[in-house]
Amino acid sequence: MSEKRVFLALGSNLGNREQNLENAISALEREHVRVVKRSSVYETEPQDVADQPWFLNMVAECETRCFPLQLLAVLLRIERDLGRIRSNAKRRGPRVIDLDIVLYGNVVMDTPQLTVPHPRLTERRFVLEPLLEIEPDLKHPETKEPLSRFLRAVSSQKIRKR
Ligand code: ATP
Ligand code: CA
Ligand code: CA
Repeated sequence: MSEKRVFLALGSNLGNREQNLENAISALEREHVRVVKRSSVYETEPQDVADQPWFLNMVAECETRCFPLQLLAVLLRIERDLGRIRSNAKRRGPRVIDLDIVLYGNVVMDTPQLTVPHPRLTERRFVLEPLLEIEPDLKHPETKEPLSRFLRAVSSQKIRKR
């Protein structure tokens, strides 16, 4: 299988947030998920669960030979290795590291384990802004709409470049 271009969203709001992002990048490289471009790091206000520390977020453009579900398995393993503890009670709560697949080439899929593009991509400034910083002309693989079109609607979400 040829290399696929994927965009991953990284987030951390527990412990040494910068270091957690760096550790995740290093771990991706070790897993043959080659990081070819990285966005700036953004500090962002938590969205769904407000009472938690602010996040550091970034997006990484990567090349990999992993299929989508293999890539997800790699991401979940890295999260666990970096000390993320999953608890059902605290969905969208504080976490050492969160790794999401935002785009996987032009693949569109919706399975119980994995939805690509990420279903909340267009609602989240902390994903859209770093993504478009790397690749301003990206289009939604399903609708072909320029992703930049969604920025205005999320402009009230608080985020600042570090
Ligand atoms: P959100 O999906 O709203 O960003 P979250 O990242 O906090 O929430 P998690 O608890 O980290 O959610 O993930 C729950 C599950 O979501 C994962 O175990 C995975 O199976 C599933 N999932 C579905 N689509 C994706 C995707 N595109 N990237 C990563 N995980 C996904
Ligand atoms: Ca997430
Ligand atoms: Ca996640």
